[in-house]
Amino acid sequence: MPAAALHVVATPIGNLGDLSPRAQQVLRDVAAICAEDTRRSGQLLAHFGIGTPLLALHEHNEQQLAQRLVARLLAGESLALVSDAGTPLVSDPGYRLVKAAREAGVRVSPVPGPSALIAALSVAGLPSDRFAFEGFLPAKASARRERLATLAGEPRTLVFYESSHRIEESLADLAAAFGGERPAALARELTKLFETVLDGGLAELHARVVAEPDQRKGEFVLVVQGVGEDADARLAEGRRVHAILARQLPPSAAAKLAAEITGAPRKALYGGGDPV
Ligand code: SAM
Repeated sequence: MPAAALHVVATPIGNLGDLSPRAQQVLRDVAAICAEDTRRSGQLLAHFGIGTPLLALHEHNEQQLAQRLVARLLAGESLALVSDAGTPLVSDPGYRLVKAAREAGVRVSPVPGPSALIAALSVAGLPSDRFAFEGFLPAKASARRERLATLAGEPRTLVFYESSHRIEESLADLAAAFGGERPAALARELTKLFETVLDGGLAELHARVVAEPDQRKGEFVLVVQGVGEDADARLAEGRRVHAILARQLPPSAAAKLAAEITGAPRKALYGGGDPV
């Protein structure tokens, strides 16, 4: 018999048909399932006729429960970890338990499946060979804008999670920080009845969300193209960021920061000379 393991199991992000046969089997076979919200996961399990006991494991009790769960694993019981939707640990609890299990030498095995991040990236039509997942932006406007300023020069495609009550504000801040023309895609309610994927510049997406109340409902993933590897795009971005910073800072300091943020050559920003 293989040693006990902690199975990290992905569950549907909307469509119940996305719970894989292997995920169903593992959830049936383990001694207990650690779930973020036992009521919600209980509904999923009931749909598949799975009677395995559930155990609440969320942000607030994870640290405290981790060692007890590791003790069960070391005693030979296999456990599963699920979150409310998608893949555990991706903007969801589970990190502390997985870390504790690995540190104790317990086998930790994934049952891969849905994640809104990958689902959105796969349909966005934006470069996906390199990307950076940013999770949720800060809720506070000042912190959000600061974060976006540090990301404006990122060459990789960026992926953000967002909720319905902040999508409008976040799109406005993104358009202001990255420029309204920056290509993006807004994936809403993936795998659900009202699934929509809008694409266009950030300003255009913001305008759609403002004009159409339905486009503000549900769950969102926002995929934003990076500034690109090519020197021309980087220089254009550097000049745009420099112009904004130079409203508050001496031109040389603005050029230094704009170069740091965007990767554009500092000398090309300060004094407008040839890039070096
Ligand atoms: N662990 C999950 C995963 O792997 O996708 C993500 C959990 S996070 C707490 C929830 C966020 O994921 C939502 O606010 C939304 O940004 C995104 N999300 C989840 N389901 C989605 C869906 N069906 N369509 C679009 N975005 C979704």
